[in-house]
Amino acid sequence: MDYIVQMKPSFDENERSAMNEYLCSDSWLMEFKKTREFEQMIAQYTGANYCSIMPNGTLSLSVALLACGVKKTDEVIVPDYTMVATPNAVELIGAKAVFVDIERDTLCMDFVKMQEAITDKTKAIILVSINGRYPKKIEQIVKYCRERGIYVIEDAAQSLGSFYGERHVGKYGDIASFSFSVPKIITTGQGGALITDDEALYKKILLIRDFGREKSGEDHYLVKGWNFKFTDLQAVIGIEQMKKLPERVLKKRKMGEIYYNNLQHIDGIELIETNFEEVSPWFYDVLCDKREELIEYLHSQGVGSRKFYPPLHSEPAYGVEGKYPVTEEIAQKGLWLPSWVGLEENQIMWICNLIRQFYKKH
Ligand SMILES: *Cc1c(COP(=O)(O)O)cnc(C)c1O
Repeated sequence: MDYIVQMKPSFDENERSAMNEYLCSDSWLMEFKKTREFEQMIAQYTGANYCSIMPNGTLSLSVALLACGVKKTDEVIVPDYTMVATPNAVELIGAKAVFVDIERDTLCMDFVKMQEAITDKTKAIILVSINGRYPKKIEQIVKYCRERGIYVIEDAAQSLGSFYGERHVGKYGDIASFSFSVPKIITTGQGGALITDDEALYKKILLIRDFGREKSGEDHYLVKGWNFKFTDLQAVIGIEQMKKLPERVLKKRKMGEIYYNNLQHIDGIELIETNFEEVSPWFYDVLCDKREELIEYLHSQGVGSRKFYPPLHSEPAYGVEGKYPVTEEIAQKGLWLPSWVGLEENQIMWICNLIRQFYKKH
């Protein structure tokens, strides 16, 4: 069997012929009709009133913060377990990222610890839906912030195609951000999107991403803005990827169930409870004993995997003191199993068998 990689992008002749057709038309490459069409598709799929495509899922978070009026003296609460882009997007605009520990059941921000971290300087929180899951207290978190005038920005980079109740993940906060980097469920190489139902926030986003002007070609600047525009070259790929999203969502839920059912009773493996009726996980995450040995063993058998993110507060980039027992523990045990959407059922069964055999011997 070929080496099973932990992740890779998935595309075929649909993307190739759409790109060919686009390049054979009178195209300008920069963002225009194709980007607008891609935005429409995302707004419609997520049920948002407005969508703005962004160059990537890091800048999109910075723009969301700017649109909410976050300034240099402000603090923004972020979970200690997330992709480093979450706090970095805060620091990029000069504000301060304040780390909060997570809850072990969902790997998302802990509501009680979040309340303890709030100060008069807290202007926003970034709520990260890890692998498409929300924290247990999502409704209370949003209510708590609304009552205090604190913006809730959702980093939903891992959550396109995941739902919570009637709504798409990302529809609980004020603005949500998605990423289309290569490991995500759909990709444009690099890319991101912001969704919101708030017209005023949407208008600010549009100004910030286009030099602060209302119309291209009319050089009159209402606010300070930059160039965070997309390209139609990438939107052509994004449109084709979006057409495949519903099918991928079903596939990823099914893959999750197969992993879950087959790893459930293995001593040494702990699973994160996931509702596969609503959530289509980005990566399949497990907590495991003897992680380093398991990684080596899987690799020797032709199976790739990847360790969880480290506790961000203690990384050299931040070096913040504090108590983060949950992120510290899961960073030692967490492992992402092969998760790309083209994996076959028999490959997942094979991976689960390898894991079972490993723990029989250890
Ligand atoms: C992928 C990811 C990002 C970053 O997105 P880019 O498009 O790579 O900038 C941000 N936050 C989370 C939680 C992610 O998984």
